[in-house]
Amino acid sequence: MTYVITQSCCNDTACVPVCPVNCIHPTPDEPGYATAEMLYIDPDSCIDCGACVDVCPVSAITADYELPEELLPFQDLNAQYFRDPAHQGYDVTPSKRPTARWTAPPEQTLRVAVVGSGPAASFAADELLSQRGLAVEVDMFERLTTPWGLVRFGVAPDHQTTKSAAETFVRMSRRKGFRMFLNTEVGTDIGHDELRQRYHAVIYAVGAPGDRGLGIAGEHLPGSHSAKEFVAWYNGHPDHVDDHFDLSGERAVVIGNGNVALDVARVLLADEASLRRTDIADHALGQIVQSSIREVVVVGRRGPAQAAFTTPELLGLQQVPGLSVVVKPEEVEVDPATMRVLAAKPESLALYKAARLAELDAEVPSSGPRIVMRFLRSPTEILGDDHVEGVRLVRNELVDDEHGGLVAVAGTEVEEIECGLVLRSVGYKGSPVPGLPFDADRGVLPHLRGRVTDPRSAGVVPGVYTAGWIKRGPTGVIGTNKVDAIETVGSLLEDWTSGALTAPRVTSDVAEILPHHVDLGGWRAIDAHERATGKSLRRPRVKVVRLEEQLEIARGGAS
Ligand code: NAP
Repeated sequence: MTYVITQSCCNDTACVPVCPVNCIHPTPDEPGYATAEMLYIDPDSCIDCGACVDVCPVSAITADYELPEELLPFQDLNAQYFRDPAHQGYDVTPSKRPTARWTAPPEQTLRVAVVGSGPAASFAADELLSQRGLAVEVDMFERLTTPWGLVRFGVAPDHQTTKSAAETFVRMSRRKGFRMFLNTEVGTDIGHDELRQRYHAVIYAVGAPGDRGLGIAGEHLPGSHSAKEFVAWYNGHPDHVDDHFDLSGERAVVIGNGNVALDVARVLLADEASLRRTDIADHALGQIVQSSIREVVVVGRRGPAQAAFTTPELLGLQQVPGLSVVVKPEEVEVDPATMRVLAAKPESLALYKAARLAELDAEVPSSGPRIVMRFLRSPTEILGDDHVEGVRLVRNELVDDEHGGLVAVAGTEVEEIECGLVLRSVGYKGSPVPGLPFDADRGVLPHLRGRVTDPRSAGVVPGVYTAGWIKRGPTGVIGTNKVDAIETVGSLLEDWTSGALTAPRVTSDVAEILPHHVDLGGWRAIDAHERATGKSLRRPRVKVVRLEEQLEIARGGAS
């Protein structure tokens, strides 16, 4: 037998060092790790020890003989990775991450402020607090009253296994030296300069809160929204509780075909019984179960081999009970330009994805809920006078770009699709952090291995670091942030031990100047309240979504 990695893999790599035969790839040291859709187990090398199962934070690893029907395609997907010659012949020596031995400046405690509380922030805090022989204190600052960022507000409610990554962060929060300052906005409640005065180092892990635009007519008509807003709404983000989405039409169009596009398409069409088992926000649940939408068209500007969604998510989508996923057969044929480009690159998984798409049913009229995957189409206008009535699409050709890839270039053939709702799912974008240099083109903080740099002086900004999407851009899955955060913390600890970090000038407790913050005790009270309310309804939790109510519950539980 062998173990198989399945859909909820978060690339956290906790499984990699515990594998005694090094059969889980790509490892963080291998070239493909940064862009890997998931990790894979080599069925020919796996010795069935199960060590990986015990450490997987999202229960993504299953013995092949225990795979439920809907996860069977992952057996082939794991094996497929190792069929590529580029992924064979790896070193059988277990790839343990070398444990750095830091020599601390004598009798000093390293004090670090982490701004943000999502996966990158939490992995960074965990890495700092788990150093042997170093005294470290971490204060985490978060604008909202609830922590864990995209795990709470980004991961789709029907992906509860992925949400269990939060358990890792809960364990981190119990570590000695950790404090949480929720309901505290850096830049408003406390400034960057104040943080610099109170801590040896500040790590910005604030994510990518904006979204990219399409730059086409009609983009801002009522009924056209960013998918990011829709995700925030159904996940109960306090800033989006009162948003309105018109679900009265029969068809919605999603522009872009990344994993967020698949999430919103799936949630729009989810059946009531399955949604009622999740932690979707009650206001969204009430409206989605009343929705008239029966068809969601997901529009990708390039071909099937370039689809931005990951293969695990495609395989998962095909297993949703009662949901049809259909294509136009002529659009899922891989074009000669793609074949030529992929022949020169060891990327057989792109063709594997295209092959899975080609197996989907052809689009025919039907009454049940369905997702229509379209390819090689770009929107040129969102149609309507005072609300969305449709989308005009142009057919694209794929042409070479200067990086050896293929880009979509508009042709002349156009078509219009009627719809009442458009969700623009073309990626997230980072926002500037007041007081710090910013790379506006990429929407990231410029950095060198996590040390924030200033392009004007070509030097580093002393004591300031970055991790996660604001460091590398909005790519990767939850665990990708672990490797990213480890790199940043490594740079920080090098600077600490070399004496490059300046001691805090202000030594009074920061809590004194933040009287309105919510601490860990307050968050635990909200968490317990949500779980208790969910229990009787057989739901993981019922989210408290209004800030005032969150604060009231938190005040009752403040430690
Ligand atoms: P994404 O993966 O970057 O996808 C963006 C999509 O928008 C791509 O299809 C892109 O096409 C398209 N696009 C960009 N500009 C466009 C334009 N002007 N016109 C038309 N299409 C355009 O972004 P995402 O879906 O927001 O996801 C962000 C990250 O979160 C990803 O790494 C994703 O894997 C991750 N995520 C993971 C999960 C999960 O694991 N379940 C769930 C949600 C998100 P091109 O490819 O041609 O640029």
